[in-house]
Order: sequence, then C-alpha cells, then structure tokens
Amino acid sequence: MRAFSPLSGTIAERIAQIRQTVPNSVRLIAVTKQVSVEAMREAYAAGVRDFAENRVQEAEAKQAKLSDLTDVTWHLIGHLQSNKAQKALDCFQWIHSIDDLKLAQRLNRLAAQRSHKPQSLLQVKLLPDLNKYGWSATDLLQDLSALSQCENLRIQGLMTILPHGLSAADATMAFQKTAELANTIQQQNRPHLQMQVLSMGMSNDYALAVQAGATMIRLGRILFGDRST
Ligand SMILES: *Cc1c(COP(=O)(O)O)cnc(C)c1O
Repeated sequence: MRAFSPLSGTIAERIAQIRQTVPNSVRLIAVTKQVSVEAMREAYAAGVRDFAENRVQEAEAKQAKLSDLTDVTWHLIGHLQSNKAQKALDCFQWIHSIDDLKLAQRLNRLAAQRSHKPQSLLQVKLLPDLNKYGWSATDLLQDLSALSQCENLRIQGLMTILPHGLSAADATMAFQKTAELANTIQQQNRPHLQMQVLSMGMSNDYALAVQAGATMIRLGRILFGDRST
C-alpha cells in the first residue's frame, strides 16, 4: 500500500491539519473500526459527526456506549451479509457498501417498512481486485433499471475502494473513472438514482480522490493511528 505521512499531535490537531487541505464541501468520515470509544469521543469533541464502521456488530456495541452523542451519523462501509441487512438498517443512516443487485433489492424491501429510509451508495470496482466487492462498470450499467426501482434506498452516488499498491497515477485514473461513471449514470436521469455523492479516498490516497471529485473521504489510520490488523 502506498504510504501516507502520519500526522503528529492529538486527534483534534490531525483533523484540523486535514481540514486545512480539503475543501469544506468534502465530508470527512472518521473510520472507527477497531478504534476505542474514548478516541471516538475525542474525534467528536473535535467536531467529527460522521463515524464509519465495517461490521454491524461492532457498530451496535459502540452505539450503545455512545448513545449520548445524538447527532452522529453512522456509515456502513464494509461488505454486508444479507442475514444482517435488517440490523444494518437499524444501525446505519448511510450504507456505502451496497455491492450487488440482490443485496440492494433485499435492503429495499426491508426499508419499505421503515419510516427512516437509509441513504445509499453503490460500491464499484473499476480495476480488477480479488479482495474487493462491487460492480464493474459494465455490470452496473446493466443493473441500472432494476436499481432505479429500489426507491427506498435513496441512492445518492458511488463508493469505491482501490486495490492496494497502485501508483499515484493509477489511483488518480481509477478515481477519475469512478467520477465519470457517476456522470454517465446521472445523465440517464433515472428515477431514484442520484449520483452527486462520491465516497472515495482513504488515509493514503484521499488527496488524489479529492482532486478527482470525491465528496466524502473515509479516514481511519491517519486520524487514529495504525490498527492491529
Ligand atoms: C478501513 C477502511 C477505510 C479507512 O482506511 P485507512 O487506511 O485506515 O484510512 C476506508 N474505507 C473502507 C471501506 C475501509 O474498510
């Protein structure tokens, strides 16, 4: 993986440093998998209102401990097994990791019965990567009419995770392709398919993602330090 320069200082100082280089319109999502609730409270005190987790159970446990933070938005960014779909709708306001049509349709059915509908992103994988979930561009374009009927998902755009070890040039190209795909879809003007949100960029590549048009960046290690795995 391309390295990133670790930032010095407290979590609040790191957030301030990142905020200086990223436009205010870009939503900074703190990725809190394996991060303690104490560190999450520090981030909250520094103004963070968006937390992302990749596991439903971990989010549920933390939400119980942070229930006094009532204005936090919770984002699911990890692969969702269909048997956890109901729970995911309980725990998260945003689901970034809808990665196939079956899952989308299942979530859509479950969300029909809820007063709070999720906001959703479609996960795409524009470069081959055995380790990552998501639609290829071709497959996504084929599934668009079916996705357009998933009116309870409030689909807002695309999410992508790049393969490890790309050069800066290749990472930039992959982010640009994701932005172009969102544009192509937006131009089709399909009902219930908004494409103005692009969730892309992590600790090692968020600056490139922002240049390519990211509207949400998902930052873990650069805020909280290295995880154990
Ligand atoms: C872990 C994770 C991140 C954050 O990665 P860092 O390298 O810690 O910034 C972002 N997005 C997804 C989907 C993740 O799983």
